[in-house]
Amino acid sequence: MSSKQQGRDFLASVGHYFDKAAALTQHPEGLLNQIKMCNSVYTFKFPIRKGDGYQTITAWRAQHSHHKLPVKGGIRFSDDANEDEVVALASLMTYKCAIVDVPFGGAKGAVKINPKEFSKTELEQVTRRYTAELIKKNFIGPALDVPAPDYGTGAREMAWIADTYLAFHPEQIDALGCVTGKTVSQGGIRGRNEATGLGVFYGLREVCDHAEDMKTLGLERGIEGKRVVVQGLGNVGYHAAKFCSEGGAILVGIAEYEGAIYDPKGIDLESLMRHRKETGSILNFGTAKNLDRREDALELDCDILIPAALENQITAENAPRIKAKIIGEAANGPVTADAEDILQAKGVLVIPDIYINAGGVTVSYFEWLKNLSRVRFGRIEKRFEQGAFDRILQLIEKESGRTLSDEERRTIARGADEVDLVYSGLEETMIGSYHQIREIWKQKETVETLRTAAFVGAINKIAISYAELGVFP
Ligand code: GLU
Repeated sequence: MSSKQQGRDFLASVGHYFDKAAALTQHPEGLLNQIKMCNSVYTFKFPIRKGDGYQTITAWRAQHSHHKLPVKGGIRFSDDANEDEVVALASLMTYKCAIVDVPFGGAKGAVKINPKEFSKTELEQVTRRYTAELIKKNFIGPALDVPAPDYGTGAREMAWIADTYLAFHPEQIDALGCVTGKTVSQGGIRGRNEATGLGVFYGLREVCDHAEDMKTLGLERGIEGKRVVVQGLGNVGYHAAKFCSEGGAILVGIAEYEGAIYDPKGIDLESLMRHRKETGSILNFGTAKNLDRREDALELDCDILIPAALENQITAENAPRIKAKIIGEAANGPVTADAEDILQAKGVLVIPDIYINAGGVTVSYFEWLKNLSRVRFGRIEKRFEQGAFDRILQLIEKESGRTLSDEERRTIARGADEVDLVYSGLEETMIGSYHQIREIWKQKETVETLRTAAFVGAINKIAISYAELGVFP
């Protein structure tokens, strides 16, 4: 299937999810339509010097919803990028932000290139020119539109974007807040790099903590001992796998570009990463079995499947063969609407992307706040907290007659660092948001899936924002 067709199907899938949820709300049709439609899409082309000649690059920035500003969402570098895909991804950002109470509208950008075919200098040229084009049209800025990393981009590209924006806006005190996911030395925040994967773990752990939901699936309560398969070892997949295995889950299968492996005894992630670095492949690793096709990993016998690569991975074609009891959509849009109906009939619990991968944008929000306030989280209160805890401990020691060891004192009387606060804010967000979604899912007979519940919750919150703006009162 062509990537354009894939983009069309993806957008239709998101539309279908929206309509299903919208029908369960009481909002007027005009408002629902306003929420669903993409507010603006900017498509542009620019030349870059490549090799001996020039290449014309096609790029987009879609701002799905202006009900809150700035709008927020990643920029992807991908050969398969197309307008419908960017719009679908931008709309998912709107719902995602609403679900985790991050006060942004949704956006997404893309540059149609395969970054592997570009040198570092060429990538820098592309990124800086892309940013300059956005600046020309007011499609970037800390109060307007704030990009972040996505598929094919990372902290390095975000640093180039920030540097370009700063060069054009030297007088703007909060200019660093024009993009998130930057390196810490360039105004980024500790914990952003691993945030999406860590959020996936916090979310899955919370899902598995509800004994009655687990019982329906024929599973025990808790993430410990759950057999996990991860598709994609990029930033999101790697960190989801890392935190899940540190949390007691067993990694039994991994799929990457070059193939897939399966080991029911468990795969040690760090050894696998070393093996991949040495051999260039995850295949032929220890006692793990190589799978013929990388797609086969999706059909492995496991408790939790984490698709962490791209959209349209679980379709009507392979959904009947899925054996996982839980699917955590770490990627955006990995399960198509047709596939979801089949999975629902099979009793598979799908944890939707707009909730489970919202950790990235949540910590982006913290980074943006840090850039606006121009102070590192924890800087003001850390010492004070440490002193207060220490004074309480001294009192307890005096009253109890027991003296704490230095180690005990250090762990208890400790003020929070930036990374502690970021992890804590992320954990709180993922737990609190899951409770909100589960409440909607459990309350109404008609809300069949967690995805529908998440969409209903998002639509209701966005409707309130419009009412606050005086639109659709
Ligand atoms: N690209 C990420 C996503 O799809 C992060 C977006 C952001 O941090 O703005 O959620």
